[in-house]
Amino acid sequence: AAKVYYDDDADLSLLKDKTIAIIGYGSQGHAQAQNLRDSGCNVIVGQRPGGPNYDLAKSHGFEPMSAADAAKKGDLVNILLPDEIQGDVYRNDIKPNLSSGNLLMCSHGFNIHFGQILPPEGVDCALAAPKGPGHLVRSEYVAGGGVPSLIALSDGASETSRQLALAYTKGIGGTRGGVIETTFAEETETDLFGEQVVLCGGVSALVKAGFETLVEAGYQPEMAYFECMHELKLIVDLFYQGGLNYMRYSVSNTAEYGDYTSGPRIVTEETKAEMKRVLNDIQSGKFARDWLLENKAGQASFFATRRRERTHQIESVGKDLRRMMTWIDSKEV
Ligand code: NDP
Ligand code: MG
Ligand code: MG
Repeated sequence: AAKVYYDDDADLSLLKDKTIAIIGYGSQGHAQAQNLRDSGCNVIVGQRPGGPNYDLAKSHGFEPMSAADAAKKGDLVNILLPDEIQGDVYRNDIKPNLSSGNLLMCSHGFNIHFGQILPPEGVDCALAAPKGPGHLVRSEYVAGGGVPSLIALSDGASETSRQLALAYTKGIGGTRGGVIETTFAEETETDLFGEQVVLCGGVSALVKAGFETLVEAGYQPEMAYFECMHELKLIVDLFYQGGLNYMRYSVSNTAEYGDYTSGPRIVTEETKAEMKRVLNDIQSGKFARDWLLENKAGQASFFATRRRERTHQIESVGKDLRRMMTWIDSKEV
């Protein structure tokens, strides 16, 4: 079993004389910056002007500066920008301002693992990744808890860097929940695999295929929406609380029997073989290369796909139905 670090394993005083630069005041940035400050750390924020996140940082009492200035002033420099732009901002604004002994940080290993961020000589790199969205990282901290987090250290990183990374996770509340040590490779590859195969890619493809099957068979789209999308939340909540066992305990015996008999007909050995191919593309760097090239091409095919996906019937049906369910904090994007 993985070793788990808690509050007593981390020493916040290691950060006492350090300046922590948080670059980016988005989901993770706003949460980590505020939690660290509330934990008594010296935090500065690098955030470009002109958007709501700049104003948000100001309204939270920070004096946002450029990424370059923040990197220059920071001893720990955490890049919390969208993964696909980190490489450019790093090369242009951050790398020239790092000095030996600084600790370069991130919350997802993509750019380090795939060589888009190459720390200079004398700079170790550490990952501190909360296993939850920024808003939960903040709200749990304020409530006295913390979201479990991961740490990882670059090859050859010093023990001091490990202790600093642990102290950092204590500052964001991570050691209240528990911190597990991983590697850049493991964090990056499992994260990409999870979002592609299960969480984002797998689930949305499953929901769409189920919805289309019912609608093509002549059932009302509203019925298909309820069965194939809306009710998913109830099932996932049961997973979340007690795993598959609890879901199967909670649903009817008929549903449980159908689960055992039909589930393996939907996700087959063939599906699993394809999962392995997706994993191979992640491990080989093929996925990373494709995504980085897509960005170099101005995200042309990404935008086209997004536009097409947005017009799927399940989206228009769902939008109308969600308006009928006033207790849902419904969102439209
Ligand atoms: P967000 O998209 O929420 O925030 C992005 C930040 O980057 C904003 O401050 C934004 O400022 C700024 N930004 C965007 N584009 C540019 C640009 N071209 N130049 C300069 N600044 C820019 O990011 P997240 O917090 O979601 O992700 C940050 C990191 O955390 C990523 O590595 C991600 O993988 C990781 N992570 C995210 C989790 C999450 O739940 N969101 C969970 C765990 C890890 P502006 O408003 O001006 O655009
Ligand atoms: Mg991810
Ligand atoms: Mg049912």
